[in-house]
Amino acid sequence: MGRAYSTIAFDPAKCDGCGDCMMACAQAKTGTSDTARSRIQIVGRGNATKDATEDATENAFELALCRQCADPKCVTVCPAGALAKDGASGVIGWDASKCVDCLLCTVGCAYGGIALEQATGHVAKCDTCDGRPACVPACPKGALTYVTTAKIYNEVGDWEDLFAPGLAGCQGCNTELLMRHTLRRVGPDTVLATPPGCVPGMGSVGFNGTTGTKVPVFHPLLTNTAAMLAGVKRQFKRMGREVTALAIAGDGGASDVGFQSLSGAAERGEQMLFMVVDNEGYMNTGMQRSSCTPYGAWTSTTPIGAGCAAGQPAQGKTQDAKNLPLIMVNHRCAYVATASTAYMEDLYAKLERAIEASKTGFAYVHVYSPCTTGWRFASDQNMEVARKAVETNFVMLWEFTPGEGLNFTRPVDDPLPVTDYLKAMGRFRHLSPAQIEHIQGKVVENAKFVQRFSEQAHGG
Ligand code: SF4
Repeated sequence: MGRAYSTIAFDPAKCDGCGDCMMACAQAKTGTSDTARSRIQIVGRGNATKDATEDATENAFELALCRQCADPKCVTVCPAGALAKDGASGVIGWDASKCVDCLLCTVGCAYGGIALEQATGHVAKCDTCDGRPACVPACPKGALTYVTTAKIYNEVGDWEDLFAPGLAGCQGCNTELLMRHTLRRVGPDTVLATPPGCVPGMGSVGFNGTTGTKVPVFHPLLTNTAAMLAGVKRQFKRMGREVTALAIAGDGGASDVGFQSLSGAAERGEQMLFMVVDNEGYMNTGMQRSSCTPYGAWTSTTPIGAGCAAGQPAQGKTQDAKNLPLIMVNHRCAYVATASTAYMEDLYAKLERAIEASKTGFAYVHVYSPCTTGWRFASDQNMEVARKAVETNFVMLWEFTPGEGLNFTRPVDDPLPVTDYLKAMGRFRHLSPAQIEHIQGKVVENAKFVQRFSEQAHGG
């Protein structure tokens, strides 16, 4: 398997051309405020006084920056051997003592990543500031991100996928992605429970006498998943075998009819890892609402237009969602976390802690899981929907232990308006201004509530 490297990503839709990133780079690399000497250059037509979303044609900024290419043309064309890619970090380094100033590298780079620095008469290029690029935190719009997920690929890319290929998930399904990553991390010494929902629906418990899972798997009822898994774990303990007891359950069963079993196991401190895949409804059986479905959402049992209760406005779900992870915090579980596949490093770190916690008590991980089919968005938009949920504070990423309290793992201090999230999906297309206002109000209220919860846990 090849090696992946960290890289600086640029979102032109967020950039307003302020140049703060260039200033930070110039200061870090040259000790001056001369942005012409910055290794990162934001170029193109632009009106920095306008919001980037107001007029995309006027604000058309692009990035000129070394991409630290896997197969760098600059290195190939350099006749003096002054450029070389570091195999460990992936950074392409420049050796001044070898450079003959021919500038061929500036022609070879298709990204404008190497340019002649007039002040010194030599080329200059990004070296990622030893993995802590000064430009990224300097960007006030969040248009720059240092993407470090390559280390997950390098660490676990060769580990066995513990689900069979060819599971029958919908195109672009987030749940399948989550299942495969989770089991890869949890590992082969696992007993898996997959109650009715999308996970067995796509084949975890198999077809025609075979299973789709390469570890022991069973299919409990919606109502008794945690109880059955607790019994299985206890029996393994009696036999002297240490296994991870893992449930991958949907939000419907966990928050509705399965809640008594879940709550009981958490209260008893059963040693298991219970993961809820929250696609905000019973998506594999016809897209019915669950108690985790958000206010205003269309589902087949919270319809809009014809089919609504007589005399009622046709507006989708009329109740707010149950906050299941916060309810689990109040069980004083050994570990509780919320996660999203749009933030894989965060998810992997939480799985690590959850696996550890499940050796001594009840660990609960609640993963927000957009559903292409039930939420009505294109199958290539899953990560974007998941990311927008976090960027608007519709979903907050945090973790809790009784000793450390609740800590945000990816705080969003300046959230985008919730409409940026809602408009990404068909299930919210019908919302009235009053409903949108209600949802925005609930997002703010919820964020304050969790923030206060966190502060109280830390004596604030
Ligand atoms: S200018 Fe570029 S191509 Fe020419 S020697 Fe220096 S690094 Fe190599």
